[in-house]
Amino acid sequence: MLFQLRKILNRCAIPVTHRKFPPPCIPLAAAILLLTLFTYCRMTQKTKTLPAAEQEDLSKSNDPITIHKRAIAIDMHADTTQRLVDEKVDLTQRLDGHFDSVRAREGGLDAQFFSIWVEPELFGGGGPGAIKRADDQIATVRALTERHPEIWQLATTAADIRRIASEGKLAALMGLEGGYAIDERIENVKRYYQMGVRYMSAAWSVSTSWAGSSNDQVGQTRGLNDFGKSVISEMNRLGMMVDVSHVSDKTFWDIIHASTKPVIATHSGCRSIANVRRNLDDQMILAIAKSGGVVCVLFYPEFLEPGWSEKKKQVDNEIAPRVQKASQEEKGDIAHKKLARDRVRREEYAKRLPPVGVARLVDHIDHIVKLVGVAYVGIGSDFDGVQATLSDLATVADLPNLTRELLRRGYSESDIDKILGGNVLRVMEEVQK
Ligand SMILES: [Zn+2]
Repeated sequence: MLFQLRKILNRCAIPVTHRKFPPPCIPLAAAILLLTLFTYCRMTQKTKTLPAAEQEDLSKSNDPITIHKRAIAIDMHADTTQRLVDEKVDLTQRLDGHFDSVRAREGGLDAQFFSIWVEPELFGGGGPGAIKRADDQIATVRALTERHPEIWQLATTAADIRRIASEGKLAALMGLEGGYAIDERIENVKRYYQMGVRYMSAAWSVSTSWAGSSNDQVGQTRGLNDFGKSVISEMNRLGMMVDVSHVSDKTFWDIIHASTKPVIATHSGCRSIANVRRNLDDQMILAIAKSGGVVCVLFYPEFLEPGWSEKKKQVDNEIAPRVQKASQEEKGDIAHKKLARDRVRREEYAKRLPPVGVARLVDHIDHIVKLVGVAYVGIGSDFDGVQATLSDLATVADLPNLTRELLRRGYSESDIDKILGGNVLRVMEEVQK
């Protein structure tokens, strides 16, 4: 109950500094608090009241856990979706990976964008295989919310997220990672929008015919072609956010010029700290902010820690025979063979690569804040899509460690609200206008 009230109060934007008021202001602050809550209850036709004991508790909201739990926290990207499809995991139980409902609640998460990821090498860069792979993942996310409405609710708008958070439940949203599943047909953008998808990136690690990837040779010169530009227009028209994580530099700039709505990066870091092509340079971060968008920083050491990517490449070479062997010995389908390869990578990276902590993630957040301000930064973990995590932010349950580090560096409670989810809510509202 208290948890829910905190979410409601956060939604109502009650001044969080009320605890610093001098004594004569306390009755007035309490009156404003009650009036705002009353208005909220009327708006949403709920019948919540604010017991005196809980008002008292709110005045103690200066510790990291309380601040974190009160804020609406939105993770823009996790690949747990593939676990739901390939491993048939029960997300309501405590699992062995990076993410599940139990630990999401422990970590004070409120909304998760599930990545609908089609690996082109396994399922095709288009065609029926890619469409089926995306559709299967969407069906699995929807089934999760239908089977466990007491925990998960499907969300497609900022208002949905605020409502679901105020009810103490988890909001499930979807984003398409790489435009392979639209199969070069413009009508499929609307099809996926209607299925609940609320962001899409043009390409993942393999370029499409209409957009370049940051990861392959062809992407180094490929931007958006005319079809690609029409995809961006259609996304703008529908109210689907345009995600630039993974695209090539040329595609990035073509998107910035083509989009009439704010542009987002759902899981990227800063190139000026970790110089990898997958990250954003300062000009790109400035352009995203100018569009009114948000840069959501990922939690993956390879794109956060300088030099880590080179070390990882060396380890990848050394363990290649073991990875290959695990794949061959796995008797399941292509998705299970990938799981077997990733298992070896996870074990070997943990043993052979240096640990990286949440402080490095906050270095990236700091950099963006210094460059463009606190209104343009968010988070996108990439949980269950990476084979290494931060040492003290290894699963969703550790999310309060991010808030602790932000507080340690002097971020205010309202800044933290924006970073954890407030900025994303603003962009969703703007894009859906
Ligand atoms: Zn990704």
